[in-house]
Amino acid sequence: MIKKNKKSVLKISYLIVLLLISIIALVWYSKILKDELSILTRNTLKEVSSQNVLVIQKEIASDVNALTEIADRIGNSDNIKEGEIVDTLKQIAYRYPFKTMGYCGMDGMAHATDGMTVDISERSYFLNAVQGETCISEPLNDLVSGEEIIAFSAPVKKSDEVVGVVFATYSVESLREILAVTSFEGEGYTYIVESDGDKVVDSINPTSFQDMTNIYVSMRAADRRNSKAIEGLKHYLDTGETGYVIFYNKVGKYMYSTPLGINNWYLIDVVPVDFLEKTSNAIIQRTYLVCAVLIVVCTFIAAWLYLEERRKKKQMQTLLFVDDLTGGNTYAKFKQEVEQRLNVHYGRTAFIMMDLDEFKLVNELFGYDTGNKVLCHVWNVLNENCGEDEYAGRDIADRFSMLLYFEKRSDIEKRILKMTEAIQKFSIPNASEYILHPVFGIYYVESNDEDVESMMNCASLAHNQAKQERDSIYRAYTNIMKDRMLEKKQLSDQIEHAYKNHEFVVYYQPKYEAETRKLAGAEALVRWRRQDGQMVSPGLFVPLAEESGFVCKLDKYVFNEVCLAQKRWMEKGLKVVPISVNLSRRHLDTPEFIGEYKSMLDHSGVPIKYLQLEITESAMFEKKAEFLEIIESLHKMGFVILMDDFGTGYSSLMMLKSIPIDVMKLDKTFVDDFDDERGEQIIRCVMRMAQDLCISITAEGVETEEQYKFLKNIGCDMIQGYYFARPMPEEEFEKCMEEA
Ligand code: C2E
Ligand code: CA
Ligand code: CA
Repeated sequence: MIKKNKKSVLKISYLIVLLLISIIALVWYSKILKDELSILTRNTLKEVSSQNVLVIQKEIASDVNALTEIADRIGNSDNIKEGEIVDTLKQIAYRYPFKTMGYCGMDGMAHATDGMTVDISERSYFLNAVQGETCISEPLNDLVSGEEIIAFSAPVKKSDEVVGVVFATYSVESLREILAVTSFEGEGYTYIVESDGDKVVDSINPTSFQDMTNIYVSMRAADRRNSKAIEGLKHYLDTGETGYVIFYNKVGKYMYSTPLGINNWYLIDVVPVDFLEKTSNAIIQRTYLVCAVLIVVCTFIAAWLYLEERRKKKQMQTLLFVDDLTGGNTYAKFKQEVEQRLNVHYGRTAFIMMDLDEFKLVNELFGYDTGNKVLCHVWNVLNENCGEDEYAGRDIADRFSMLLYFEKRSDIEKRILKMTEAIQKFSIPNASEYILHPVFGIYYVESNDEDVESMMNCASLAHNQAKQERDSIYRAYTNIMKDRMLEKKQLSDQIEHAYKNHEFVVYYQPKYEAETRKLAGAEALVRWRRQDGQMVSPGLFVPLAEESGFVCKLDKYVFNEVCLAQKRWMEKGLKVVPISVNLSRRHLDTPEFIGEYKSMLDHSGVPIKYLQLEITESAMFEKKAEFLEIIESLHKMGFVILMDDFGTGYSSLMMLKSIPIDVMKLDKTFVDDFDDERGEQIIRCVMRMAQDLCISITAEGVETEEQYKFLKNIGCDMIQGYYFARPMPEEEFEKCMEEA
């Protein structure tokens, strides 16, 4: 749980860091963008300003040039009188944008084209022109109309001597109009000022300074914050550098100053900051918008991915944790839950493993649907019997696990019996007599440092023990079980070595004709005689060899040994009897063994009637099709087939009909039951059925005279058991044959 939390905190931290990095990157990027755009903006302003300068320069320069040309022409013509000059000027005046033109003699009396004569002898433009300079005046008030004008003057020279002055007046209003055209979509405007800030041309734009006389004065009056801008502007106007300041007149405005190159005039372009930054702001806003959209989209995608991952995880967990057959817990879920609970209830915990004895039969006899219903029923019973914090889960097939708590161990045993009762209440449709047999293995947890797997192993050992004992419902784990398991493991590791060491020998247990007590056959039984002479019971090692598959090699060995023994006995002239050899169920997987058996037999030259094969009844249930096929092949070759351990499995008498066997070996447990009436009835019934099917009957494990007599009386053909003889070594059996 803590691990999970840590993981999601880590994930969220990653996300937050990622988001922060994105935001920082975005802010950084927009700052760069803003700076770039601001440079671009200022460049635009600079360009517009230069453009304006050019326009004004062109306008004024062309006018000044025109005037100089006119003055030169007057100077070059002979005997032109003042009056004539004015007349001539009148004729050409319409070609120029001047308000009036005129001529002034050296006395300073100016004769204008509008017919007025005024004294301009005091005006600087006259005085400068008399000095031989072409001149543009500061703004002046027209001496006649009072209107604001700029005057242009050019000297009229005769033989390098100034004889008069041609002048023209230019309305400041016209300059304003020129300047107004170039401003930024009506948002910007332009002034022309002198280097001391005095106005030359102001603007008609309503947002410009009204009634400006000096730009510094107007700036100071407009906003107190402008002192810095005034300083800046002063610097530009003093040094003649180009540059901008930002000042306030209601709103922030750029003011770009460029020397005009005429007198000491400067062109001041003004444009609101907002207007210039409108484009860059729009770009930045668009960038923010795109980023915001991207963030939203990314967040959506991330959220979707996260939800999808959670959904898949949940799905996986459902797959992993929910048993689709019973709807209960899987073993994986069980294990996970148990791991969390173990430490809490240390000392009073029991692990249970249970399954149903021979559950496979339920599937085979009643179908998988019924089998599934049985499993659901078992799950419900176990689940209902789980108390607070107790847990159950299904492992595979019919195997279930439980974690229970107890005060006394006997409580667990009582609960198991209660669950058994509840499980056995399940009635299989149309087979209500069939009773389910649950088997439980218990492990009482001893210390809290054991892991679930090893505890389950202990419960599994106890469970195996209970199953082997057949009539046990439960068994609790003991250390002896573990020792036995280790012993088994050791044995299983030793088998192959023992085989190579020739430690396996064949014993023979004679079979007798029931009626005459004459020797009529024998069963070959393998024995493991260790080098120190100690015998290992086949009951111990045969199941191990079966598990590993080594039993096939062992069976072949026994078969071959029997072939060779029969050959020797025949050669000795003994009256040999048929000897049956056990054939493990593991052979059903490898039908090739038939050929090998045949060649061993052929090699020995012993007639096939002296060798028989025993296959256990239960093998047939595991692989019926293979079983029948193999029996058929063996029959074709001429082998007599014995069904071993009849009565221990679940074959019904009816099934006997479909299996072509020659001899039925009644298991010892069957024989033992003869003294109770029901057991006797069953044996009689089996005998009758077998006789009808022409199947010969051999009784196994006959230990007493009563058993023998009973079996003989009801028509048993042959008897095998300690009553007559125990399994014996070859030499001993040879003697039996000699005596027969
Ligand atoms: P099984 O094939 O049912 O063999 C009969 C077993 O019953 C033999 O045990 C035999 O000694 C025992 N027996 C015979 N008469 C009596 C009696 O009157 N009373 C009692 N209590 N027991 C009697 P054994 O030799 O210990 O073999 C045990 C099992 O091992 C065999 O049961 C068989 O399943 C397996 N086995 C033995 N030899 C071979 C073999 O060569 N191949 C295979 N595949 N299995 C073998
Ligand atoms: Ca046998
Ligand atoms: Ca047997």
